[in-house]
Amino acid sequence: MNEFELISELTRSLPSNESVLVGAGDDCAVLKPVDPHQLVLFKTDAIVEGVHFDHDDPPEKIGRKALARCLSDVAAMGGAPTCALVTIGLPKQFDADQVKRIYAGLSDLARQYGVAVAGGETTASPDRIFLSISLLGKVDREHCVLRSGAKPGDAIFVTGELGGSRGGKHLDFEPRLEEGQWLAGHFNIHAMIDLSDGLAGDLRHLMHAGSVGAELRAGSIPISREAKLQAAGESSAKPPLLAALTDGEDFELLFTVASRDAVPLLDAWKARFPKLRLSCIGKVTATPGLKLRDENGLRELPTHGYVHFA
Ligand SMILES: [Mg+2]
Repeated sequence: MNEFELISELTRSLPSNESVLVGAGDDCAVLKPVDPHQLVLFKTDAIVEGVHFDHDDPPEKIGRKALARCLSDVAAMGGAPTCALVTIGLPKQFDADQVKRIYAGLSDLARQYGVAVAGGETTASPDRIFLSISLLGKVDREHCVLRSGAKPGDAIFVTGELGGSRGGKHLDFEPRLEEGQWLAGHFNIHAMIDLSDGLAGDLRHLMHAGSVGAELRAGSIPISREAKLQAAGESSAKPPLLAALTDGEDFELLFTVASRDAVPLLDAWKARFPKLRLSCIGKVTATPGLKLRDENGLRELPTHGYVHFA
């Protein structure tokens, strides 16, 4: 199968939605103009074999992950995804079945969240597969949540459980789209980010964007079962709390709200999302720096989030 035969097969049944007038097959996709009451979100993200996935990972999960990462970013703005373009880089000797299965996983997730795949391209890549996704989304003007709004005294919340994602969650996490839209629509969320580089690292992004500091309570940080299992089973594994603070690719939502909203939010959350844990893990401080409170008192957090090019 050559590249053109492959493309025609891949683009035959891509998911679409009402935002797309003309999808894959023309020189450009043609989209409808957006509602003037909404803002447009625009995101790009790439995953590379050997860095973000392994050659032998199930192909459907590779495709799914590529799109899910972008969806998670849209969730972190309080938005809804609309339309994606997909570029895939393939070595000369590609496995057509693997590529079809990558597209199948990506398309299934797109359908699940009503996202159109309006085109893309395949390109040659020296020896590894990569996937690059561009994604459009929309958000109500008054509900767009940035990283920059955290205020001293805010309560800090995180969804789900953290750490140990390399055990498998990084390939099949659920982007928190419903949760992000619900939060932005029902509460005055001051700042929000999705966790890709680890709690400590991504919290620092919120702190820098808002020119504030933060104090975390060690006992309140939700540690995943996987992080605990890894710590118990591998001598080289991080202690569970450190894994929860620094492991990448959790793709949970981290956000801050005024402290008076903390209890009403927790109550409403439990009623709306009874199966997904929500934890209040600390507070925003006026003093810069990230501190951790545990049984030994308060100390500066020496650990950093996972840094890709450290
Ligand atoms: Mg992000």
